[in-house]
Amino acid sequence: MKIRILGGDGGVAPGCHTPSFLLDKKILIDAGSAAANLSLEDQKEIDYIFISHSHLDHVKDICFLVDNMFTFRKKPIELISSPEVLESLKQHIFNDKIWPDFSALSNGRSPILSYRPVTDSVELEGYQIQLVPVSHTVPAVGFLIKDQAGVSIIVTGDTGPTEEIWTVANREKKLKAIFTEIAFPNHLQSVADAACHYTPRSFSKEVLKLAKYPPFYIYHLKPEFRKELGREIKALKIPKLKLLKLNQRYTF
Ligand SMILES: [Zn+2]
Ligand SMILES: [Zn+2]
Repeated sequence: MKIRILGGDGGVAPGCHTPSFLLDKKILIDAGSAAANLSLEDQKEIDYIFISHSHLDHVKDICFLVDNMFTFRKKPIELISSPEVLESLKQHIFNDKIWPDFSALSNGRSPILSYRPVTDSVELEGYQIQLVPVSHTVPAVGFLIKDQAGVSIIVTGDTGPTEEIWTVANREKKLKAIFTEIAFPNHLQSVADAACHYTPRSFSKEVLKLAKYPPFYIYHLKPEFRKELGREIKALKIPKLKLLKLNQRYTF
């Protein structure tokens, strides 16, 4: 299982790109920066985009990716998420006002987008991918991604304090990584709580919900607090905790 980090920041600024992970060649997990950071040749390979939630920092590059691919596609790119998340995208982005309805627009061979609502899990490209509800200000899911050998990773997406995904993590026998977020520094705890994000302090309480854990890869740091967050996260002294690196490739 190969993961390439196309974006892992909690905002847009020079050198900062919002979340998007490439799984092998055909699958994106979120699409905050997939058009900006993937070559056009690599964009042609994408067949599936799993979406954690409807917030713009996680979905904006779907717009530009499908636009780039309009003349090339022979079948639609599938957007996969919970029914609520997909409904938001249909209603508020691909509505022929903010951006064209690419599920209706055809290039003569095929529409460019299709929607696959999933309430539990889906199997494709040799993976079983389970959608697990997390706690955010809008309907949101994290993902348990498992290969045929049972090796798994978790990507939580945006979340504040939550339960189910840690229960799922505790059941996994070959969990190799947890990609999760920290967005705000400790002095903005009330903002983080209202926005359903972690601070280093609230994240450290989440870790206690895990019986044992693999390396954590932390992402979604707000660019304006990067240095402060770096210091606070280091001070937690949680073993096996790393900050996600942009353009890094990980193999599990
Ligand atoms: Zn969000
Ligand atoms: Zn976000």
